[in-house]
Amino acid sequence: MEVVAGVQHEGAGPLILPRAEHCVSRRDIDPEALKILFRLQRLGFTAYLTGGAVRDMLLGRKPKDFDIATDARPNQIRKYFANAFIIGRRFRLAHIRFRGGKVIEVATFRRDPGPAAGSAVPSSGTAFAAGQIPAAQKPPEEGGAVMAAGERAPLYAFGTPEEDAWRRDITVNALFYDPATAAVIDYVGGVADLRQGRIRVIGDAAERFREDPVRIWRVIRYAARLGFAIGDGIGSEILEQRQLLAGCSESRMYEELSKDLLGPRSRDVFALHREYGVLRLLLGRIGEALENDEPMFAVSSSLLASADAEKEAGRPLGLDEMLSLLLWPWAAPLLSQAGSDPFPLLKKAFLGAGMVVSLPKGMRAQVIDLLALAGRMVRALGDGNMRWSARSRPGYALASRLCYMITQGRVPTAGESFEDLYQKTFPGRPLWGGSSPRRRRPRRQGPAA
Ligand code: ATP
Ligand code: MG
Repeated sequence: MEVVAGVQHEGAGPLILPRAEHCVSRRDIDPEALKILFRLQRLGFTAYLTGGAVRDMLLGRKPKDFDIATDARPNQIRKYFANAFIIGRRFRLAHIRFRGGKVIEVATFRRDPGPAAGSAVPSSGTAFAAGQIPAAQKPPEEGGAVMAAGERAPLYAFGTPEEDAWRRDITVNALFYDPATAAVIDYVGGVADLRQGRIRVIGDAAERFREDPVRIWRVIRYAARLGFAIGDGIGSEILEQRQLLAGCSESRMYEELSKDLLGPRSRDVFALHREYGVLRLLLGRIGEALENDEPMFAVSSSLLASADAEKEAGRPLGLDEMLSLLLWPWAAPLLSQAGSDPFPLLKKAFLGAGMVVSLPKGMRAQVIDLLALAGRMVRALGDGNMRWSARSRPGYALASRLCYMITQGRVPTAGESFEDLYQKTFPGRPLWGGSSPRRRRPRRQGPAA
């Protein structure tokens, strides 16, 4: 393992950063999360804020969500919190739900199950890698460890805060914040890495990537999002092991792709994926095209950048829209070859691309529709021929927005649409072919009064 000055070692005890030495203020913490933390502590449990929330607050950013780690077991959490729901077939966590859809995730400290557990690596809130855990397997309610059929080593086991920190993915994601003392607790050298703007895998990168290849993806995501450098030796390990991503479960890949698209700085995240050659692993031939064709990728990049600015302004885009922006320059040439119904051609191209990430059927259909409709609009701005009956299609408004972004390089404001563009380009022509779309007459009910 690489030794870096100022980096802690397992068993050496934590670095404790008192309140005066960091910028995390209780006021920045979600009040419900704070209540849960204090309640757990009053009940005699250890309870810390952890993960992305501590990382983001230390960087002066607003966290997306507030995850809690505790030594209370899932069934104890359920006992003390009436609004707690235990989730996760593979690793049990509590979701504490509040009005308005807010959810605070409370996970019990756990430890690395060790290499004999294969690549069954729990990640907070989500899954183990590649679905290695038998469906019939029941996690223990109160127990120390879960064993897979035929395995000697546990798939996961509860642990101490220190063990919990060491089983996490990267150092800056493994910090704890103790609300009682307002101190940041760092077992793994995350504070030094935050200060130096560095992403470092906890433990031996080669081994941790083998255990769970999704960590390759996560290293790239957080390096790009935070604008951090990837630590020494880790970049070459990514290049060496990136192929392992191809063996990950399709649904987990879809989840990760969604996080990249919906999260901040998607432009930078995809640029770094491309730099490390992982786009082709995730998106098959589509990723290959985006990697090989610089101008094509530049189009995706600038569309994602416009979307990122929208997200930052508090106007998030949907996943179908984000996927369409990413895929537009790949789909555009296909759309121009297709006849009046491009759906079958695009669907075939999607299915034939050999993507590791598989989009759920409904999402794929939505994205194809959106791309096809936006493509028709873009073409209509060139030749004036628009099939206005498309106005009644559910994706029309989104496609109009997409067409605007593609042709104008920015998101339309409230009053702007494809129709404005059409009118400006073809001032003499009536919109909607000169008449409103046909409407059904309301059915008469009974004899006229
Ligand atoms: P954000 O939610 O802002 O994207 P995050 O760091 O909170 O960032 P999550 O995906 O919510 O990311 O994961 C929560 C925490 O769980 C991480 O901070 C990390 O400590 C741990 N974690 C997530 N995935 C893995 C993994 N594959 N291996 C080890 N630890 C993981
Ligand atoms: Mg999170």
